Amino acid sequence: MKIDLRRLKLRPQQSEEFYLETTGRNEFLSEVGGKFAAAVQVDLVVDNTGKIFVARGRVRTTLQLPCSRCLGEAIVPVDAELACNILESKSAEYADLEEDIIIHDPGQVDIDPAVEEAIFMSIPINPLCKLECQGICPQCGVNRNLEDCHCETREIDPRWEKLKNLIRK
Ligand SMILES: [Zn+2]
Ligand SMILES: [Zn+2]
Repeated sequence: MKIDLRRLKLRPQQSEEFYLETTGRNEFLSEVGGKFAAAVQVDLVVDNTGKIFVARGRVRTTLQLPCSRCLGEAIVPVDAELACNILESKSAEYADLEEDIIIHDPGQVDIDPAVEEAIFMSIPINPLCKLECQGICPQCGVNRNLEDCHCETREIDPRWEKLKNLIRK
């Protein structure tokens, strides 16, 4: 997704709002086995400080990720903060932040790296298809959300059982 900063470039100390919407790049999520389940919406306010552009806003979308317990579909809404500095190459002395974007053409500023970074940072470590997901039985491999299995679940650690026997004696 691209923004045009040519107009703002002529107006130091002013800001401009952008609203963008695009389909997400699924290749970006393929590493975590996910895909976009909704469009990516970006609200952005860009300030021209006179030296650099400072962009602040939000990224909203919905992701479909594999459930960390049963590998089913986990639908994860994303509402993430977006913040980056946009610098023209000549003022690269400011480029000390990783998420900064260096531009050569203020009419064609590609903000995808900052948008994807914001989405990536908000991916949960353990996405769940539902809060009470029962997961997959470690013994027979059945999806416990769909059917009950009759595997024994040992509730007491065998070491404690030994101790209990000792106490009984
Ligand atoms: Zn699940
Ligand atoms: Zn089982």
